Amino acid sequence: MPNIWILRIGHRPQRDKRVTTHVALTSRALGASGIFVDTKDNVLEENVNSVVDRFGGEFVIETGVHWKKKLKSFDGEVVHLTMYGERLDEAMPKIAGDRDLLIVVGAEKVPPEVYQAADLNISVGNQPHSEVAALAIFLDRLTDGKNLYSDRDGQMTVIPNERGKTVVEKHT
Ligand code: SAM
Repeated sequence: MPNIWILRIGHRPQRDKRVTTHVALTSRALGASGIFVDTKDNVLEENVNSVVDRFGGEFVIETGVHWKKKLKSFDGEVVHLTMYGERLDEAMPKIAGDRDLLIVVGAEKVPPEVYQAADLNISVGNQPHSEVAALAIFLDRLTDGKNLYSDRDGQMTVIPNERGKTVVEKHT
């Protein structure tokens, strides 16, 4: 499958630190290769990289990325998640699936240029909610739920359990 990338626009380090961290962790958990964040944020990078170091996988985070240039230079298909977009069920079949995908999510109001630049503007329901929820539903549909329990070969692996917590730690 081609690589899935996320572009987070409008990140305000103080105000959005938790939500953008959750956008990044959700992207990783559901199989994206990495996230580009428009505002430079070293703390955000450290927090996300610390999860990657412990739980494995190849996830990349880059902050301070010029979003207009990224949209222009991206070699693949661009999908913008917005409550104003076309229906998810109607839009999904239009995704080519054979090219890398850049999924754009906003923090606040997204500039009109993004709507123009995107190949598809897709809504996950027509009610306002959260970029984390929109991304999770979208990625899960896109990947048919295949990444929920995929092995990341991490230092730590959580084993699903009916009760209690089972964590296997690798000793190197
Ligand atoms: N008015 C904005 C919009 O265009 O959806 C809502 C801003 S919301 C606080 C931040 C981000 O959440 C949006 O940029 C969008 O990526 C995502 N979002 C919120 N509701 C959504 C929905 N129903 N469908 C898809 N994305 C949504």
